[in-house]
Amino acid sequence: MLINKAYKFRLYPSKEQETLIAKTIGCSRFVFNRFLGQWNDTYQETGKGLTYSSCSAELTQLKKEFVWLKEVDSIALQSSLKNLADSFTRFFKKQTKAPRFKSKKNQVQSYTTKETNSNIAIVDNKIKLPKLGLVRLAKSREVEGRILNATVRRNPSGKFFVSILVETDVQPLKKTDSSIGIDLGITDFAVFSDGHKIDNHTFTAKMEKRLKREQRKLSRRALQVKNKGMNLLDAKNYQKQKHKVARLHERVRNQRDDFLHKLSTDIIKNHDLICIEDLNTKGMVRNHKLAKSISDVSWSAFVSKLEYKAKWYGKTIVKISRWFPSSQICSECGHQEGKKSLEIRDWTCPICHKHHDRDINASKNILAEGVRTFDLA
Ligand SMILES: [Zn+2]
Repeated sequence: MLINKAYKFRLYPSKEQETLIAKTIGCSRFVFNRFLGQWNDTYQETGKGLTYSSCSAELTQLKKEFVWLKEVDSIALQSSLKNLADSFTRFFKKQTKAPRFKSKKNQVQSYTTKETNSNIAIVDNKIKLPKLGLVRLAKSREVEGRILNATVRRNPSGKFFVSILVETDVQPLKKTDSSIGIDLGITDFAVFSDGHKIDNHTFTAKMEKRLKREQRKLSRRALQVKNKGMNLLDAKNYQKQKHKVARLHERVRNQRDDFLHKLSTDIIKNHDLICIEDLNTKGMVRNHKLAKSISDVSWSAFVSKLEYKAKWYGKTIVKISRWFPSSQICSECGHQEGKKSLEIRDWTCPICHKHHDRDINASKNILAEGVRTFDLA
């Protein structure tokens, strides 16, 4: 099966390359904003938008007026227009809000360039990019497949990254004849029907404590600056702290993402049928007590990784109705008790006297229910 897959790596551009990246980002933004303005005006006057091809033709003219546009990757500028046209298409289909002007102050600054005639390629530990030439890359794994495009980003902490989108052919993984139920929990991130538990990754919790502390420090500094009647942009200490917080945020996000990638790949490799609850995350977030845990552990990110990997590798995900009383049933004898409050972590079945860990029992029930509904289908 042909799939699109993205690789993300840290980039280490030279000083000159950094300058050129900044220029390209700036020019892409300029082109986007300029045509967005035209598009809005035309729409107001005629009730119709522009087209990508008319904008593209005009871009050629624009380059004669603003010669500095010629200094940067021309495909990036075309992509910026394509991006604008796509945004309008989605807007007209009522899928998204109207495109907005891009600002220099946006958190993440980026541009995208498309692959044509091997203008983008991986060469050892470097990536070849239009106009930039070879840029050093922290290549943590091999890029497999046909490169479609590359997006160069500069994040708030001043680091550079590249996302490489490729088209690649994936082969189904070997069948294992194994099924598993997963209970996504609050105390533990995930509890499996084989009794295995993944705790709520302590390292992230530790990092988050630190992040909170640094964030409080940042607010205090902002207040100090305000009291002195200074501008935040001129306050060195404040800016330094802001940088530190951005870097920590990024590390927490990366750690979490790595963790979820490894876990989901492991599960897909080892099991053919994976049974999970169909989480109504929205409904649960409304319950204030649970909100923190949910955002912490990123269940929905995990489930979506499981889902697309299952599709890639020929495995099956069965979602159990969220009304299924997984924690009320005794997985041993089927006896159904009433609702149990979240504090009850373990219990003994009054009928068969089996002692249950709340979450392991729930995941066993999820597995049984998943197998049952899968067999019916
Ligand atoms: Zn029982």
